[in-house]
Amino acid sequence: MSDDRVGFLRSRIRDIPDFPKEGILFKDITPLLADVGAFRVCIQLMVERLDGESIHAVIGIESRGFMFGAALADKLGVGFVPVRKPGKLPAATVRAEYDLEYGSDAVEIHQDALGSGDKVVIVDDLIATGGTAKAAAELVAQCGAEVAAFVFVINLVALEGTKKLEPHRVISILDY
Ligand code: AMP
Repeated sequence: MSDDRVGFLRSRIRDIPDFPKEGILFKDITPLLADVGAFRVCIQLMVERLDGESIHAVIGIESRGFMFGAALADKLGVGFVPVRKPGKLPAATVRAEYDLEYGSDAVEIHQDALGSGDKVVIVDDLIATGGTAKAAAELVAQCGAEVAAFVFVINLVALEGTKKLEPHRVISILDY
């Protein structure tokens, strides 16, 4: 995407080598969050890329998906629904498991959070392998709702995580 705003946002992402373990290049979004101009541009680009798509709710994935997801929901004028790690949500939940490099993890959503046929956008800060986002989409399906699009601030393209999300629409603001 040739847009000065994208270059500006790129300058607000900090690379941290070997975090949280050796060999991982961590994409730190805290400089972007700390710069209100950058944060607003980021949310504005998400709104523009969604291009008037009709949405009932924004789903944010714990925990960095909450920050971007809640701001996007506000801009779109729709509610925000959290997808959380197991045991965090207080009411009745549904759960989806996904594989990690070693072992597995899970995410949950309140079972009454979405209405049947609702169209939602799933938001996270970054897509790597796509496992987390795919599990979030399974939760949406279990609620009888529909994924209109995924929105990520960052896509680590070489990991091909977006392939796991096909045939859904995937929007990423910054590709690495
Ligand atoms: P994945 O399920 O492999 O797509 O991983 C996505 C989740 O892990 C997101 O919630 C990211 O915040 C986090 N994540 C994975 N890799 C990185 C990375 N290199 N830098 C920052 N966050 C990452």
